[in-house]
Formats: sequence, C-alpha cells, structure tokens
Amino acid sequence: MDRHIDTTCVQGGYTPGNGEPRQIPIIQSTTFKYDTSEDMGKLFDLEASGYFYTRLQNPTNDYVAAKIAQLEGGTAAMLTSSGQAASFFSVFNLAGAGDHVVSSSTIYGGTYNLFAVTMKRMGIDFTFVPPDCSDEELHAAFRPNTKAVFGETIANPALIVLDIERFARAAHAHGVPLIIDNTFATPVNCRPFAWGADIVVHSTTKYMDGHGAGVGGCIVDSGRFDWMSHADKFPGLCSPDESYHGITYAEKFGNAGAFITKATAQLMRDFGSIQSPQNAFLLNLGLESLHLRMQRHCQNALAVATFLSTHDQVDWVSYPDLPGDKCHALAQKYLPHGSCGVVSFGVRGGRKAAENFMKHLRLAAIETHVADARTCCLHPANATHRQMNDQELKACGISPELVRFSCGIEDAGDLIADIDQALAANR
Ligand SMILES: *Cc1c(COP(=O)(O)O)cnc(C)c1O
Repeated sequence: MDRHIDTTCVQGGYTPGNGEPRQIPIIQSTTFKYDTSEDMGKLFDLEASGYFYTRLQNPTNDYVAAKIAQLEGGTAAMLTSSGQAASFFSVFNLAGAGDHVVSSSTIYGGTYNLFAVTMKRMGIDFTFVPPDCSDEELHAAFRPNTKAVFGETIANPALIVLDIERFARAAHAHGVPLIIDNTFATPVNCRPFAWGADIVVHSTTKYMDGHGAGVGGCIVDSGRFDWMSHADKFPGLCSPDESYHGITYAEKFGNAGAFITKATAQLMRDFGSIQSPQNAFLLNLGLESLHLRMQRHCQNALAVATFLSTHDQVDWVSYPDLPGDKCHALAQKYLPHGSCGVVSFGVRGGRKAAENFMKHLRLAAIETHVADARTCCLHPANATHRQMNDQELKACGISPELVRFSCGIEDAGDLIADIDQALAANR
C-alpha cells in the first residue's frame, strides 16, 4: 500500500502480529539458538534467511532498517555503527585497490578524510569535482576503472545543494551507480532515488535520531542499478564469492537485494561495524517524529536566516531556502518543502567577532554536532579547523568569521532573541 511518508515515519518497518509488542522489541542477544546444525548451516550458506549472530544481523536493527528503506523508497537497507561506516561500506562494496571513484568536492569533512586519506591508502583513487562544474569537467573526471560517484544532497557544512539528476545522468552514462549522502535533507525533504540516485547513505546520528542520543548510520539500496549489465565493472557482485561457497550476489539476490546482502555477508562479517540493538531502538523513536521535527527545523532556520540577512553585525548568510541564495533554484527543485535546519553566516569583524558572539550565546550551545532537537552551533575556525590559519581556512572554503548554526525545534523567537543579544555584544 502506498502510504504518505509521515505515516511511514510512525508505523513503517514493523507490523506486530496478534498479541505481539506494539513497540519494536529490543533483541538484546548476541546469538540465536537452533535445533540442528543443518538448520544453521543453511543460514551460513545464505540458503535460508534468519539470524545467527548479531554482528551480521539482528531483528531490532532489521525493523529499523526496513523503515528507513521504506522512507527512501528503496528495496533493502542495513544499519551501521556510524555514518562514517555507512559511507565507507557504500564505496568499499563496489571499489577495491586499483579502482577509482568520482566525488563531489563539497562533502562532509569526515567523508573527505575517509576518501582522500584512508581509502587512498587502501589503493582507491578519488577525483573531487566541484558540484557546479561543467558537464565536460564532470565527464572528464571518469576513468575506465571508475566504480561509483558520490555526493551529498545538502553539503555539511557548505550548505551546497547537489544537482542530483545531473550527477546521476553522468554516473549512468559511465555505467556506475550514484551514491548520495542524504543526512541533512532526510527522506522527509528529499528522496534521491526519485532523481536517479542508486544508493543512499545516512548518518542517523543527525536528524533521524534527532536527540543527540546515539551515533549510527544506514545504507539503502534503490534496487534499480542493473549490476549484471555492467558485470565487468563489478566482479564482487557479478562473479562467485569464494568466501561464500561461490554465491554470485547479483544472480542469487537480484538487483533488489544484491548490494545489501553483499555488504552484510562480506563487510559486516569482516569489519563488524554494527549498530547496537539499543541504539537502533532509540533511532526508531527519533524516526517516529522525523516528519514533524524536520518541518520545525526548517521553519526555524528560515526565520533565523531571514533575521540574520538584514542584521548590521552580519556580513553574509548562507541558507538554501533564502531567496537570493546561490543554491535557491536547486533547493526549490530538490527540496520544495524545506532543506534543513542548518544556517551558516559570517559574523562582521572576523574571527575575534565570531568568537565573541559565540561566548555570549545563552540558549544555543557550543557543540561539535548538528541536526539536533536542541539548537547548537560551532565556530569551525576555533574548533574542527583550529590548526589552520586564515589563509588555509579560505582554501577549504571556510572563512574565519563563519559560524555554523544548527536550529533546533525550540521557539523561533527565542532563538532570534538569543542571537540578537549575542550579536549586540559585538557593537
Ligand atoms: C555527521 C555526518 C557524517 C558522519 O556521520 P557519523 O555518524 O558522525 O559517523 C557523514 N555525513 C554527513 C553529511 C554528516 O553530517
């Protein structure tokens, strides 16, 4: 049945039978009992589906993953211990030593490090392209050994909206899938599969959890990429896996299940980046109100951005929903109901003025976090990027006066009053 996404937030993924718990049960068990070794053997051969060890699969996690798959309109999903693990698995499930990946340059800093430093050490090469590059530049980034394209719906912290359709077209023209990090938009505001993306990843730590309670991640497969028609590019999916009795994932599980089954059977088995069932339960509580919170996050952010845009102690404001923002047209296309709750702006007077502003905030908390029910903010020049001088900051697109302000779901008037009194301290 085709339900509205708001209903899926509340009820998706888990449907109790007669007399069963209304809330998703937390299956706090590392292992599962079987009557015969033959029964268990079938699970190890991927001949039957079922649970035998929580490092690979756990019912609580699967209920929550199923909800996120429904929210994104995908065919299969898996939870991971963090967003970083989700990004890593999504690429490593397709590419290995000697392969190459094209990525948008405006991605989360942690993802950039993962790609440019750690995965490079594993022998995977990345080419970073600006999201607004020309089609020629985009196509020129591909090589014969390119295995995927990666981008973020709304980049953290640059707040650049990706032209998903254009990146999907380019990926498909070169026979590879598009992976989208949809953390900031959430499926409530954007469903990348509708625009041609093939795989979606999330840091569920952000809006999906929404209450700063648990670090987590998720990978969702659209089920639409036809692996077998690009079998030469994806031997891991399209030829026998010797570590699983010669199973060929794309044959046995089809386009709908191959990607997530391989990620579970190989990557979770070997790397073990599982989400604890407790955290999955907390994540689901967050998902139950995601549709309501996103609406409020966006309303508050637009009110704050509008207020900042005429303030005499503010040099510039970046927020995709603000008319005149460089990404406004893309936001109207991909995020018609609002983008996210994060606003960046430049405090007039540079690094010292930004520091002073932060010091005077009373309601907004200084945190290395975003996308929380409680308003929080960060001055990158003084925190995540504090080793850099002003010149180095500029080179990576972060100016010394930049403040990343993550609007929570409090009252917009209270947030604005707090910002106003803190900016007044700079006069
Ligand atoms: C936070 C974040 C990540 C990393 O997620 P963790 O859960 O912290 O590992 C990845 N992508 C985006 C867009 C993020 O904001």
